[in-house]
Amino acid sequence: MKKSIEDFITEIGERNSQEPEFMQAVREVSETVIPYIVSNKIYHGKNILMRMVEPERVLMFRVNWVDDSGEIRVNRGYRVQMNSAIGPYKGGLRFHPSVNLSILKFLAFEQVFKNSLTTLPMGGGKGGSDFDPKGKSDGEIMRFCQSFMTELFRYIGPNTDIPAGDIGVGGREIGYMFGQYKKLKKEFTGVLTGKGLSWGGSLIRPEATGYGTVYFAENMLNHVKNSVKGKTVVISGSGNVAQFAAEKCIQLSAKVVSLSDSSGSIYDSEGITEEKLKYVMDLKNNKRERISEYVKKYPKAKFYKNQTPWDIPCEIALPCATQNELNEKNAKSLINNGCVCISEGANMPCTPEAISVFRKNKVLYAPGKASNAGGVAVSGLEMAQNSLRYSWTREEVDSRLKDIMLDIHNACITHGLEEGYINYEKGANIAGFIKVADAMLAQGVV
Ligand code: NDP
Repeated sequence: MKKSIEDFITEIGERNSQEPEFMQAVREVSETVIPYIVSNKIYHGKNILMRMVEPERVLMFRVNWVDDSGEIRVNRGYRVQMNSAIGPYKGGLRFHPSVNLSILKFLAFEQVFKNSLTTLPMGGGKGGSDFDPKGKSDGEIMRFCQSFMTELFRYIGPNTDIPAGDIGVGGREIGYMFGQYKKLKKEFTGVLTGKGLSWGGSLIRPEATGYGTVYFAENMLNHVKNSVKGKTVVISGSGNVAQFAAEKCIQLSAKVVSLSDSSGSIYDSEGITEEKLKYVMDLKNNKRERISEYVKKYPKAKFYKNQTPWDIPCEIALPCATQNELNEKNAKSLINNGCVCISEGANMPCTPEAISVFRKNKVLYAPGKASNAGGVAVSGLEMAQNSLRYSWTREEVDSRLKDIMLDIHNACITHGLEEGYINYEKGANIAGFIKVADAMLAQGVV
């Protein structure tokens, strides 16, 4: 078995030698899915995983825009249309200077499994640009978004590919891109999700990824007769996912003691209250400032420059910033300090070495493709509401989100049960794989 996996990884690695993040995601899936394929005859001789790791289409394009000083800037735009076996491509757009093909292919590949897990009919894709929104004026952001969409609009549509937000792309950017799409296509249609409420958005969409990550942690803890209530929680990041993960933890009576950004982490031993969180939301979403400002407002808190929060004692850890932000040393530190549950809000935030520490210590660990699927699930609900030309209430959407997170949790148990331990990673990979692979087999070699 080990040889089949290594042979597969070597072959894919030769074709994608410059793409470490993509290869990391492929290896992680292969280690659990290849044994499943070997033990299930219907997949034999079909090269099914080989087909799944090759994107159906990759678009790469120039994005010109003019900055406030009149200088012409050039960025690179991408859309990876990974797999459309179970529905139109669906996945976010990321604007961050680190964006490259490797990162977008890893995200698109993960998205295929995640979308399959939601039980909604969505294929997988991802896109973005190496554009850095930090420090840009509103006008610059708008001109960039318009230029990006002026090329992307040819390749997307409500029945083809429906992008959403991700790092660096929130409500403001979705608005500018939606406006440009509408102008170019002369139609008002649900081509993007994460839209504003008055123009086709869904209630709970901004909250969905963070809330869903906490619902998943609650499901894991409930399964071992425990709960989020009363626990100390460490969260990384202070963007969309981190903010609403914190909000839901506070609502469930847990104590959130940290948030972070790329300049460092804050530690508030008294706990981040609803009021303090409101301050953070204004700081990050409106003023677009750094998290270090928190300690000026709340001087009892500490700021650790350029440090991640994983040395802070906690029972629950929610990595909600970016890929590979939690390594083996961090994982050991979390375990030594009493952490019993890790639910990933970000995509692939834990390195393979960190995951193996969690597994060895038999603590609850949920991979992002399962635990952060709430965001895309509510995007799917936004698409459904757009098609119906109807809006569900906050309670209706939240209740559907809870049900979906529980279904994903149970699917992970079905396929991830090992002796005395639930391997959520294995469960998520296999459950996600089955639906996509079966659809691909039914649709022939296309
Ligand atoms: P935001 O842009 O709103 O926030 C990102 C946060 O992560 C910021 O606090 C940012 O800090 C921090 N961050 C980004 N890059 C780094 C880095 N290299 N090192 C340290 N901190 C970093 O993004 P989201 O909250 O939307 O996304 C966060 C994660 O969740 C990503 O992995 C994304 O793929 C994943 N995700 C998001 C979904 C969504 O619905 N938005 C859905 C599913 C997954 P700074 O401001 O300093 O850059």
